[in-house]
Amino acid sequence: MLSVVIPVYNEEESLELLHSELVEVAQNERYDLEIIFIDDGSTDHSWQIIRRLAEEDQRVRGIRFRRNFGKAAALSAGFQAAQGERIITLDADLQDDPHEIPRLLAKQHDERLDVVSGWKRIRHDPWHKVIPSRIFNWLIGRLTGVWLHDHNCGMKCYRREVLQEVRLYGEMHRFVPVLAHARGFLVGEIEIQHRPRRFGHSKYGVRRFVKGFLDLLTVTFLTGFRQRPQHLLGTLGLVCFFVGGLGLGYLAVYWVVAQMRPDLGLKPLHQRPAVIYSSAALLLGAQLLSIGFLAEMITAYQSRESDAYSVAERIGLSTPTRNEPQQAGESPTR
Ligand code: UDP
Ligand code: MG
Repeated sequence: MLSVVIPVYNEEESLELLHSELVEVAQNERYDLEIIFIDDGSTDHSWQIIRRLAEEDQRVRGIRFRRNFGKAAALSAGFQAAQGERIITLDADLQDDPHEIPRLLAKQHDERLDVVSGWKRIRHDPWHKVIPSRIFNWLIGRLTGVWLHDHNCGMKCYRREVLQEVRLYGEMHRFVPVLAHARGFLVGEIEIQHRPRRFGHSKYGVRRFVKGFLDLLTVTFLTGFRQRPQHLLGTLGLVCFFVGGLGLGYLAVYWVVAQMRPDLGLKPLHQRPAVIYSSAALLLGAQLLSIGFLAEMITAYQSRESDAYSVAERIGLSTPTRNEPQQAGESPTR
């Protein structure tokens, strides 16, 4: 079965068209299809339309949020509900063309990929969105080693296992391929057709890039040091500690020399700014180390075994229950 998960935030004009396009593709390709619309607190008539579509078409399902919780939350809810072995995400604004679904699935099948991301090679978006996005994608590649041209593409295809392991929160939907890659899943991309927005307007402004950058730092930290935070914080701490210690050591010698040889005319210590820099470095080092220990304690007590590794196959062993997908809400920190 194929599940199509569609986050919807004030997209009333697009829904019916999108639905008919999806149905057409499913008919041509003979998919056993399920369409899950998640109404992310729309203030227009999106929910009424979803409800009507669901009445007319068995394959349509709907989830309505009480208020706007963001795209990642909407996708999460959709992933929880999805029953298909393969799950496709689409934007509701008709910018992603459902006719690309067969190519996405073929690519996934042929190259045995776990995640296939779309790549809007020719984009129909304004330049102030395209250029920052290029830089952002390059930065993600640099920092995480996952080189996709278009991390933020709404059209992606996943195998079920990926979404059972990768938990979404905040605005982390952009980083599912990165998080999946960090757990050893195979990630690839394919060029897709992109269409201009026909109705409504984009739900994101320039602020997304600031938030996106902060999220990128978090993801880099989580994928690299989630299990051993002290390896990052402690290293920085030790460097600061060392620099501070060296500085103070030098000043101590300097002070002794100044006491013993007043004829040299050395400045008194309180006129040397190095005193402040060295002490600050020493304190910072101590701070970082102790924060690192706190982070280690949280990791030690909070992290589940299933977070530490990802199993691809088992022989002669049934899947233990604790590695099965956790219910939402069990672990609010992920
Ligand atoms: N969306 C959502 N919740 C939000 C913002 C957006 O569910 O808080 C949905 C929106 O309805 C659309 C998709 O996420 O289906 C992508 O949004 P948009 O087209 O505004 O983003 P852009 O194409 O400008 O990146
Ligand atoms: Mg869009």
